[in-house]
Amino acid sequence: MLAYLADVTLFDGRVRRPRRGVLIEGDRIAWVGAHTRAPRHAREARELARGVVVTPGLIDAHVHLCFDGTADFAAEAREMESVAAATVKAVRNAAITLRHGVTTVRDLGGRGDAAIWVARAVESGRLPGPRILAAGRALTVTGGHGHNVGLGREVDGPDEVRRAVREEIRAGATAIKLMATGGVLTPGITADFAAFTPEELRAAVEEAHAWGRTVAAHAIGPTGILRAVEAGVDSIEHGSMLTSEGARRMAERGTYHVPTLSALVGMVDHADEIPAYAAEKATALVDRAREAFRRSIRAGVRIVCGTDAGTPFNPHGSAPLEVVRMVEWGLPPIAALRAATSVAAELLRLPDVGVIGPGAAADLCAYEADPLEDVRAILAPVVVLKGGEPVGSLP
Ligand SMILES: [Zn+2]
Repeated sequence: MLAYLADVTLFDGRVRRPRRGVLIEGDRIAWVGAHTRAPRHAREARELARGVVVTPGLIDAHVHLCFDGTADFAAEAREMESVAAATVKAVRNAAITLRHGVTTVRDLGGRGDAAIWVARAVESGRLPGPRILAAGRALTVTGGHGHNVGLGREVDGPDEVRRAVREEIRAGATAIKLMATGGVLTPGITADFAAFTPEELRAAVEEAHAWGRTVAAHAIGPTGILRAVEAGVDSIEHGSMLTSEGARRMAERGTYHVPTLSALVGMVDHADEIPAYAAEKATALVDRAREAFRRSIRAGVRIVCGTDAGTPFNPHGSAPLEVVRMVEWGLPPIAALRAATSVAAELLRLPDVGVIGPGAAADLCAYEADPLEDVRAILAPVVVLKGGEPVGSLP
């Protein structure tokens, strides 16, 4: 019932402090403070670890649990003949995700309601996995990004968009996903094609917000990014061709940027193995994406960790690797850790995760080395807790 982390270096989601103690009661954090001033009953607690470095459990704001990350996304989609087949994958991928220290994810598009049911099963303790916010099916225009892989539904006009938002929420969606531009993994459509009209985007955002759901917009090209930001979406996913104007508007409006570097890196590093249309688009985008990411940092846009796991060569549980990549691309380590903890939790409007403080969920990771000194330490958690329960070791 009571567990204690003794004399640890603590990154609490915002700042780092040495020589802390963390007392866990049930599934919640009961107390955090100087180890030497631990409350008396901490002595009766089971000591989980001592002298390690502790962070909140990581958050991945962009995954596709129904997909495994195989080389040909469209072929994987074709072979996935039913929602049941997708659900089996999602169950397995949820378990893999958790073992890497990722205790919360947002699923941004799957087959039918597969991810929604996995989310519910995890929530009620019937399946191992991270806490899951699930968008159900993504909304895309007729013939738009993702129409060919069965993770989206095609909708046109503000009324249809509004109805689709309501139907996804009725089906159990706890987030909404819009395909605001073309994308890398859809043949016959350029990545910078601006898909939904401003009226359609506004209808989606207005409806989703009325139901208390946040809106994520897949947006690569500059026009689609600006339209989505002006319509009031909560996050821009990818944002690979973000302009200075776009970054300035995102900073002003408080729009989050989920750059999903792992998606591009996975494809560019395996360009010979993925379909030619995807390889060409990914290769053409990677330098732009690097510039866009730096623009976001300079403009003070709030950056959040998201992997797009499930896309080619981008396996589940890669949020720690995304943190490493964000640092390699120029984000200071403390900002990268915040992006995967407290800032991600703000985007997802989950006040009790992403931070280690009294009352928060006891989701945390412990490491032998300090990721703030060598970010690669984040790849090897020695202890992972979710809701106070230790998670099985890595496969
Ligand atoms: Zn995605």
